[in-house]
Amino acid sequence: MTATHSSRMLILGSGPAGLTAAIYAARAGLAPIVVQGIQPGGQLTITTDVENYPGFADVIQGPWLMEQMQKQAEHVGARMEWDHIAEVDLSERPFRMKGDGGNLYLGDTLVIATGAQAKWLNLPSEERLKGKGVSACATCDGFFYRGKKVVVIGGGNTAVEEALYMTNHSHDVTLIHRRDSLRAEKILQERLFAHPNIKVLWNREIAEFVAGGEPETLVAADLRDTETGTIERIDLEGAFVAIGHSPATELFRGHLDLDADGYIPVEPGTARTAIPGVFACGDVMDKIYRQAVTAAGTGCMAALDAEKFLAEADFEAKAEAVMQDA
Ligand code: FAD
Ligand code: NAP
Repeated sequence: MTATHSSRMLILGSGPAGLTAAIYAARAGLAPIVVQGIQPGGQLTITTDVENYPGFADVIQGPWLMEQMQKQAEHVGARMEWDHIAEVDLSERPFRMKGDGGNLYLGDTLVIATGAQAKWLNLPSEERLKGKGVSACATCDGFFYRGKKVVVIGGGNTAVEEALYMTNHSHDVTLIHRRDSLRAEKILQERLFAHPNIKVLWNREIAEFVAGGEPETLVAADLRDTETGTIERIDLEGAFVAIGHSPATELFRGHLDLDADGYIPVEPGTARTAIPGVFACGDVMDKIYRQAVTAAGTGCMAALDAEKFLAEADFEAKAEAVMQDA
């Protein structure tokens, strides 16, 4: 049986952006519904140490932080729905959304906090070997590569953190980066370069992963030198693709303006999108900072902007009713 859920504020996504929006909206008496999606808690649930979320002198764990945010949101009155939205209709208010199982969600306002998803290299061999040696999450799958030779692909914070994390499981970790310098923060770079079990291969990209054995698993990779184009094969047993994330906005294509990279544009200094009553926050609208704390900050902005929008809409509706009565 399918159900219909209505709310003054519907929030899609339960990462730091969505849950912060929920905390503010609930405290404003708007009884928000948070549709959690297939990754309740968002991207931080697939990492371990979080050292840069303010308020904690000790290193905290990503999944723990997200549990706390969810509890705080529920404590002040937000409702969580474990569902994934598959269809949207933003042509009129209340906005209508349909979940995978057919449940209907109606929102007088909508806060989009659907975050981002891991990018892949898009090689045929990668597709074939996903889950058989190729992964996009060291903190999720690293344990399976205990004592094995692994590589991490990428040059940002995620790649460096994943390489460092993999040293908990392996003594032979190689970071492969397509250029000759990393974009990761200096403090992470210093830890990486100082680690005795990590080496870096500069100016290399994966030409193809190589399968072997029965059942087939990853056994090697052909690396292309990005300067000379030459290919060399290296043996390995695990590969973690850590080349960034794309905004989770496919759902909104054709319903809401997206920029060239698929992000949702907002009016500068606000969380307002091009559709009145629809707001966006977190990684889905932020291609620059993409941090838990900025996601939380813009989540707060989205809830406050939505609250103001509702107050103005209510005022206009009342004024219109008075005019009609007169
Ligand atoms: P996300 O956390 O991506 O959450 C998106 C939410 O939307 C999820 O709950 C998902 O289920 C939901 N969703 C998606 N599609 C739908 C749909 N169709 N219907 C319903 N729900 C949907 N930042 C830091 O500040 N410090 C760190 O140490 C740090 N470490 C990181 C480590 C890793 C490995 C990664 C990948 C990121 C890290 N980040 C870190 C970045 C940080 O995690 C993100 O900036 C932050 O999570 C973004 O929050 P968000 O709420 O915008 O989106
Ligand atoms: P990112 O910063 O966008 O870095 C992606 C890396 O992958 C870049 O080095 C890029 O190379 C490389 N790359 C992209 N496409 C590639 C391809 N097709 N083939 C080979 N390499 C490719 O992504 P991220 O590291 O996932 O970080 C995303 C955001 O989350 C950032 O804002 C980051 O600060 C944040 N984050 C923060 C923390 C933390 O604070 N501790 C931890 C993790 C993530 P180029 O450098 O050549 O472009």
